[in-house]
This record gives sequence, C-alpha cells and structure tokens, in this order.
Amino acid sequence: MAEEEIYYEMLWDCTQCNTKGLLGDSHRHCPTCGAAQDPTERYFPKEGEEVEAKNHKFVGADWSCAYCSSPNSQAAAHCTNCGAGQDGTKPVALVADKATPEPLPSTMPTTAPKRSMGWLRWVFAALALVVIGIVFLFTSTKETTATVAQRTWAREIQIEQMGRVADSAWRDSVPGDAYGVSCSREQRSTKQVPDGQDCHTERVDKGDGTFVKRQECTTRYRDVPVYDDRCSYTVNRWRTVRSVKADTQNAMNPVWPTVSNLNANFPGGGVGSLGSEREGTRHESYVLTLGSGGKTWTCNVPENVWSKYQEGATTPLKVRLTGGADCSSLK
Ligand SMILES: [Zn+2]
Ligand SMILES: [Zn+2]
Repeated sequence: MAEEEIYYEMLWDCTQCNTKGLLGDSHRHCPTCGAAQDPTERYFPKEGEEVEAKNHKFVGADWSCAYCSSPNSQAAAHCTNCGAGQDGTKPVALVADKATPEPLPSTMPTTAPKRSMGWLRWVFAALALVVIGIVFLFTSTKETTATVAQRTWAREIQIEQMGRVADSAWRDSVPGDAYGVSCSREQRSTKQVPDGQDCHTERVDKGDGTFVKRQECTTRYRDVPVYDDRCSYTVNRWRTVRSVKADTQNAMNPVWPTVSNLNANFPGGGVGSLGSEREGTRHESYVLTLGSGGKTWTCNVPENVWSKYQEGATTPLKVRLTGGADCSSLK
C-alpha cells in the first residue's frame, strides 16, 4: 500500500440542468443551477481525463442525507444542503470500475436444476433395492445334508535361487549392493519458478467524490525441468526358480514335500553366493468335495476343518439361493 495516495476527482452529471462532467470533490453543488450532488450519478473519468483532487484529505466515505439524498463529508455533522443530522444515515454506494476486467463467470450454472433431483432420487432408490436384492440372493441360505465325496490336499515349497537382477532407479534409491551402475542425466520432474508479474491498475471509489489508483499484481510462474541421474544397475537377489510339490488324494496325514538337491554351495561360496538355492514360500490347500441330490460342491477349508471329515461322512451344509455352498458353515 502506497504511503501517499493521489486522489482524483470522480465525475457526476447534474440531472436538473444536464451539466455534464462536474467534479465529485470540488462541486458538491452544481455550479450552473445550484442543485445538490447526486452520489448515485458519480462515475469514473475517461482514461487521460483524470483531474487530481489537490490537498484532499480522506476522512471516510460520504454519508447520504436521509431527507434530500445529498452526499455529505464524514466530517460534517449536518447536511450541507438541508441541515438534517448524520445520525442513522448510510454511506453512499461505491461505484465499481468498469474499466477493470470483471472476474470470469463461472462455467458451472449457479443454480442447479432442481427438477432433475426428483427422478435422480428414484434412480437411487431403485439401485438400492437392486443391491439389497443381490445381497439377499448371495447371503440367504438353506441347510441341506451333504456327503463327503472326496478329500484332497496339496502342499508346495517354492525354491529360490540367488541370481543377477537388472533394474534401474534414480540415484538416491539405488540399492547399496548394486554393481555395474551406469547413470545418465534425465528429466525427473518439473518445478514452478516465478517468471515476472502480471499487473494492472485498478481504480477504487473512495465514496467521498474521489478515487485512487491501485496496482494489482499477481506473480506469473513457468515450469522448469528438474534433472537427476537415472541409473541402471545389477543386484544379486533371491528369485523363485522352481517349486517342489506333494499331493495325495484321501491321505489322512498331509506331509511337506522333501526338498533335496539344493545348490546350497555354488560355486564354492556359501548360502547367498550367486547360483545358491534355498527354500522359499510355502503354500498349502485342503479341499473337500461334497455332494447332495446329484449336486456337488468343492470347499477350500483350513487343515483343521479338513481333517475332521472322513470320506463318506454326512454333514449339514448351508447352500445359497444362487446354488453355491457356504463353505464357512463347515466347522
Ligand atoms: Zn445543475
Ligand atoms: Zn439533506
């Protein structure tokens, strides 16, 4: 904010005698016919026709006389036109500068069409009903008696081998044990840097027959590429190369497959040297095949549940309306 603002005269036209371009601060009354200034007739002068209001002291926006509508200085206790008091009066309305660009109208309509809300509510209600129907179809069950037709199990151990893995990363995230690292400059991101200012002059109605000019500036930005080192490298990592499986139908006691012939010491180093192998993740599954009235269901169950059901045994089983079995009903 400038310490010493320059005040310029607003202009007004006399509606009584049609004299145009009167000064807002100097001409509180029309110099031609003597009519009081009408603050609603104030306007900004054209570019280049501004008249400075010399020695002007801003004391606040004018108050509008409640009896004769004349504008009066904040410093005046009584209307200079008719003598009425200041009490209970309002300040004059300020004039907006039409020379400054108006804010762009929003692309969204300000009032949403209320009519469409009605049918939208019905669509939501119908959708909710459909969802409830589907949930009901998939969750409601009826109990049937099923016979255990088959029991199967499978167990698998994955075998991992230490091997060379090629990868690439930004320099700050290259692993510490990487080797064969080769990097080149690449654009990693962009950042915004200030690139000058967009300024325009705004004229502000002070409400006392004068206006001031104000510089309104916004900082402009531009995108600048940010470069970094992109590195390709090699690391030694455990990778799954094969798996060992064991599966037997109807066997009562599942066992893990025997892992033999691991390359534990290859080619001369210990575990962790290139080419050496180790046991990795284990997977297991236990399946009961159940039948009733010509229908069959397969249930993947935990081992402790699976081991309770002998082949040929009968058990209650919950069946959904869609035909699928609720395997969690097997306990
Ligand atoms: Zn006049
Ligand atoms: Zn008055």
